[in-house]
Amino acid sequence: MSVKPRPLPPGLHRETLALHTALERSQYGEHSEALYLTSGFVQPDAETSAHRFAHSEDGFTYARTSNPTVTSFEQRLAALEGTQAAIGASSGMGAILLMGMGLLKAGDHVICSRSMFGSTLNLFGKEFAKFGVETTFVSQTDVTEWRSAVRPSTKLLFAETPTNPLTDVCDIQALADLAHNAGALLAVDNCFCSPALQRPVELGADLIIHSGTKYLDGQGRVMAGAICGPSKLIVDVFAPIVRTAGMVLAPFNAWVVTKGMETLGIRMQAQSASALAVAQWLETHPAVSRVYYPGLASHGQHALAMRQQSGLGGAVLSFDVRGADAAALRANAFHVINNTQVISIATNLGDTKSIITHPATTSHGRLSEAQRQAAGIGQGLVRLAVGLEHLDDIKADLLRGLDTL
Ligand SMILES: *Cc1c(COP(=O)(O)O)cnc(C)c1O
Repeated sequence: MSVKPRPLPPGLHRETLALHTALERSQYGEHSEALYLTSGFVQPDAETSAHRFAHSEDGFTYARTSNPTVTSFEQRLAALEGTQAAIGASSGMGAILLMGMGLLKAGDHVICSRSMFGSTLNLFGKEFAKFGVETTFVSQTDVTEWRSAVRPSTKLLFAETPTNPLTDVCDIQALADLAHNAGALLAVDNCFCSPALQRPVELGADLIIHSGTKYLDGQGRVMAGAICGPSKLIVDVFAPIVRTAGMVLAPFNAWVVTKGMETLGIRMQAQSASALAVAQWLETHPAVSRVYYPGLASHGQHALAMRQQSGLGGAVLSFDVRGADAAALRANAFHVINNTQVISIATNLGDTKSIITHPATTSHGRLSEAQRQAAGIGQGLVRLAVGLEHLDDIKADLLRGLDTL
């Protein structure tokens, strides 16, 4: 009964795919994607039901297996990442758990950057370790460290670029070559750039991890996650696990993120442009000692980042305020944060509203001082996820604190 979408012509650009992929219309012909808020699906007869449960016939049965709204989200994200398929998960961490369950068993070995998202480090270092999966944590930027960590049991290399909060960039192509020579897979967490800026499969990565909670939704409304990759892994390996283990993406959340992706390209362009302007301007402020942003010529992997990220730095930057010692650094960072009136004091990112964070006492607060020092996260470090406010208002908000230090 549904109004079949007209087939899309080949060669469409990502901005267009973000609007028109997977537009399945009901008999009402709604222009905006419908939200199928249902856990179960009525079957026409017992035979069809049996075929659908045996997967010998397409069709929806129960939302832990699939739901049309979630399927639309998956197809749209796969189109943007340039992968054959994608599968939704309850959150970004749910997607990483799903990847681990699908690829790893006791005795297997993983190599992972030690600068990855904190919960990712915990998941591999603590939770997967309980099941006999061993992880070696290596430098984000030094490929030789990755190479020397390879063992015969290495099954997965997992990277995230740029990192949070210091925006270190790794060489996706070099890691893909290394993984494939070792008979392993490379997965890349693409949260920070999103497919609008960076498409890791084009550089040889096998799997892409997403927290849809961040830039895909873009407005900080829901939790969502996904894995993008080849059909043989998505359909044959990961889908049966979601069906069994239940880290399924809720249809409502899938709908919100599907709508969010329509504006992904334009948001990433605008927020990256503002972030670059703020980063360049902060570099000239006397109260700031260092700015971390891949779009700056002063960034250690600037050329690599520009190649991998469509010439843009993304919307997250960090900076060190000046201070005589750790106590003064923290006081000065808190002063800058507390004097904002527009930018939100929060720890998430990927929102249209700018967010300011003190990593040393929040996202990295559970590390020891020695671990924090090793990670380069000082008490004077402030992270800024730049949103869509007017650039002058963002600068003025930062100046309230920076000019009164
Ligand atoms: C937020 C985030 C995650 C986890 O995603 P959730 O949706 O919060 O579970 C994973 N990786 C990166 C880089 C993130 O920023």
